[in-house]
Amino acid sequence: MIDALGRNIRYLRLSVTERCNLNCLYCSPAKDDPATLLKPDEIAKCVSIMVKLGVDKVRITGGEPLVRRDLEEIIAKLTAIDGIDDLPMTTNAVGLDLRIHDLVKAGISRFNISLDTLDRQRYKEITRVDGMDSVLRAVDLGLQLGVNVKLNAVLIRGVNDMDLPGFMEYVKETPVQVRFIELMPIGSYGEDNQDKVIHPEEVLAQFPELKPIGRASGGVATVYKADGMAGSIGFISPLSHAFCHECNRIRLTADGRIRPCLGDNGESDIRPYLNDEAALHKAIYDAIYHKPTGHHFQDGFASNRDMQHIGG
Ligand code: SAM
Repeated sequence: MIDALGRNIRYLRLSVTERCNLNCLYCSPAKDDPATLLKPDEIAKCVSIMVKLGVDKVRITGGEPLVRRDLEEIIAKLTAIDGIDDLPMTTNAVGLDLRIHDLVKAGISRFNISLDTLDRQRYKEITRVDGMDSVLRAVDLGLQLGVNVKLNAVLIRGVNDMDLPGFMEYVKETPVQVRFIELMPIGSYGEDNQDKVIHPEEVLAQFPELKPIGRASGGVATVYKADGMAGSIGFISPLSHAFCHECNRIRLTADGRIRPCLGDNGESDIRPYLNDEAALHKAIYDAIYHKPTGHHFQDGFASNRDMQHIGG
């Protein structure tokens, strides 16, 4: 559907839980409130309306989607909706190695795996869990299954920028795209550490062999490659290269709120309308239509919710 600014909103980021099995330095888990957590049927009802309004890509995120017990039921209900062309999942992939076959069979089209370092000790320091082996096994299994796998790393100066050469070596041999994401001022760590954000230009200066090959993910990522590299490097830079004017996303939180912009605190609670199809349709339409012009990351933005509530 076209919003008030003429943007074609086609991409839903669907958070299915606020819980997580990691406790990252910059993003800590929360708890689901059973009174407000959307049930699989309720999720399907909301997503069906969004699909009627033009959404054709639904990304499952969280919290950590893998910790939601009825995840398979949610996926089954989503795959039964006619009109979803792409059903990817964003996950930290701890434990994914044991479930990837079933999830792919269930209908997950591809995986974006969050992995901020390839160093086991640093992984433990960032996530407070010794889980990196499971993540790397999941990546290998995904590649064996022929599923598209991307790795997402939030680059933070002094925390994981020393891993850049390791990531470059990794993509030389491994046909995955590693995307470096700017640390956003969401959550107290992100707000307090904006001086540690690393922009693409700094990485590109360090690795001049990287040459631009285009844009991906609806224009959100700029992608680079060096000669002979099996994979590629992408940058998602909402701070230094904002893409708000062409943003095609909306978000549905695990507790039933539409948040049309990550960097704007406006949300619409659609739970009150779950039993009234026409009212639910109108609430969703209104929320999408009035998607904000853009984020406020550069204007001293203070998010009313942390990333684990919103879904990234
Ligand atoms: N648990 C899943 C995962 O780890 O991919 C999905 C949810 S997690 C909130 C989604 C993404 O948001 C992760 O890649 C995480 O690194 C990223 N993230 C969390 N806080 C962030 C921040 N302040 N700035 C940029 N990215 C952030």
